[in-house]
Amino acid sequence: MFDKILIANRGEIACRIISTARRLGIQTIAVYSEADSNSKHVSMADEAWCIGKPAAAESYLKTDKILDIALKSGAKAIHPGYGFLSENASFAKSCFDNDLIFIGPPVNAIEAMGSKSSAKEIMTEANVPLVPGYHGDDQSVENLLDASKKIGFPVLLKATAGGGGKGMRIVESEDEFAEALASCKREAKASFSDDEVLVEKYLTQPRHIEIQVFSDNFGDTVHLFERDCSVQRRHQKIIEEAPAFGLSDEIRTKIANVAIKAADAIGYSGAGTVEFLYDQDGSFYFMEMNTRLQVEHPVTEMITGLDLVEWQLIVANNQPLPLQQHQIRCHGHAFEVRIYAEDPDQDFLPATGTIVHLNTPEQSLNVRVDTGIRQGDEVSIYYDPMIAKLIVWERDRDTALARLRGTLADYQVVGLTTNLKFLSALAANEAFNMQQIDTSFIEKQQQSLFSEKAPISDESIALAALYILQSRVTQSHLNASVSNDPFSPWHQVTGWRNNEKNSHQLEFIDTESAAPITARIHFEKSGYSIEVNNASYTATGKLDNKQLSANLSGRRIDAQVIEYNDQLHILTHGKSVALGFINDDHQAYSNDESSGLIAPMPGTVISINVKVGDKVTQSQPLLILEAMKMEHTISAPYNGVISEILYQAGDMVEDGAELVIILEDEA
Ligand code: ADP
Repeated sequence: MFDKILIANRGEIACRIISTARRLGIQTIAVYSEADSNSKHVSMADEAWCIGKPAAAESYLKTDKILDIALKSGAKAIHPGYGFLSENASFAKSCFDNDLIFIGPPVNAIEAMGSKSSAKEIMTEANVPLVPGYHGDDQSVENLLDASKKIGFPVLLKATAGGGGKGMRIVESEDEFAEALASCKREAKASFSDDEVLVEKYLTQPRHIEIQVFSDNFGDTVHLFERDCSVQRRHQKIIEEAPAFGLSDEIRTKIANVAIKAADAIGYSGAGTVEFLYDQDGSFYFMEMNTRLQVEHPVTEMITGLDLVEWQLIVANNQPLPLQQHQIRCHGHAFEVRIYAEDPDQDFLPATGTIVHLNTPEQSLNVRVDTGIRQGDEVSIYYDPMIAKLIVWERDRDTALARLRGTLADYQVVGLTTNLKFLSALAANEAFNMQQIDTSFIEKQQQSLFSEKAPISDESIALAALYILQSRVTQSHLNASVSNDPFSPWHQVTGWRNNEKNSHQLEFIDTESAAPITARIHFEKSGYSIEVNNASYTATGKLDNKQLSANLSGRRIDAQVIEYNDQLHILTHGKSVALGFINDDHQAYSNDESSGLIAPMPGTVISINVKVGDKVTQSQPLLILEAMKMEHTISAPYNGVISEILYQAGDMVEDGAELVIILEDEA
């Protein structure tokens, strides 16, 4: 086995690879950008080298620099992880040319699957079933439209060089075709420097089922069962599970065998995933093959008990596969959820910021947290905003789902917007529990997943009030201990006030609705009574650092309270609320309400569809912003007239910048 490998990646996958390498006694070399100098993967590796500026193009994609460090530091092989250079055939070739082993498939296998259209050609020859479509060279609008009409709308346009759900457009009818094609090509060009597209029949209710395959250099290929990744947003996976529910043994074997055939057709070696669309009637179609380790590989590891990174290293070291097909067993059920810095309520817009507070569920044989992010780290605009993957395993699907709900309730992140609440709603969703899933799941379950925001409970407000009172107790003890007269009544916070009533008011604000909330406090001999709205609690509590042990009218509640950004974040098991604290001096609270016309994140203006003086109606698209290589449409929040446009196409805009001013219609 190699004694030293370089990991050309960052974040959770770099950490994941380092863990296995360490277990196998292999030394690891990390590379990092200037933005990642204090990151977890850097501290975990035996050696770490800075490779440039934060932007991926100036660091993690700098092949020469990475190769140079590998050679200089005596690495024998390079693991590319996923993303970045993992499916870059010319990088794999450069490794080979420099006598370095690329931990991945042979160059020609990457090339064969690198373009979705050439992959389809190879699969047609190997008799692998394909979704009806057009994947030829004639890219003229007329030809692509013609092909779409033949296939029948709705169709899906896909960048042939695409990945990560980018460069895809569903086209419902002929009228939408030209605009969708232009936008798809634009995104394809920006993301992959290649604007070639293909057309496919758009299946309306398929499932995404993929097979994990593994091949060695001696002509053997096995499968490690399937994963169901149907729950997606923007064609990107949010939750994955293994095995896929409801498949007959016959279908399961049939799909797996087709996947093995696909791998064999390109002389595969190493870990690969063959993705299929699985239709309601049991038919399935090849979509693409990913020639690398997938983000969701842990669910396969959980059901097979195997370490896929270890297998990758074994195969790259030119050893045969450790097990034969009949020795590979599927046991129990596993789920993975991707915890993202993003806002599900704003069409899953990526978020950035610093993780001010982080609490992860306890890990065990059944619970795994794969992450490259620690408390204090920043999620920046430069990379994918995934914070962690939470993976659970149990003997069957229902128990695994229950475990998922329990562990999600223990996950706490403060400092940036995350999808945690959304994931909890997903894990509790009835249709999800009942296995009523296809790729349009999120749209169909809109109502239960994005339910109206409930007002903050009286109990949470009472907890917030108790926290403030107890913090003052702590502070006054501190003050007393350093003052000349530690026994002075002025240090008391039990309610004794010169010429004041034995009661007090604390003013809060619900950060979501901006509604003010008052908590009335009466100081009692022991503890307080707290009135919020029509509820009244007797309250006592102990504050240890940020941990509040409260007793509210006889009920014991443990909460973490994090003060951040003029807000109190109250975190109890499975619940997180944020309250603005105006305090008892009635200070003004500033609430920057967004009109919907500000840039939701830093980006570039791609096009402006309106001009000054135009009448616009609510939801009418006004301009397109590109941020994190994705297009975001900024729409009118109300009917009105455009009075000012503050940017032009091509301009860079800052996060929060006002883009357009609309005079609202009076009516
Ligand atoms: P990427 O390489 O960007 O991940 P894929 O080709 O793997 O793109 O497709 C991503 C997702 O888009 C699939 O999992 C599926 O949900 C959806 N999708 C792709 N092709 C079709 C299709 N022809 N009909 C319906 N949905 C599709």
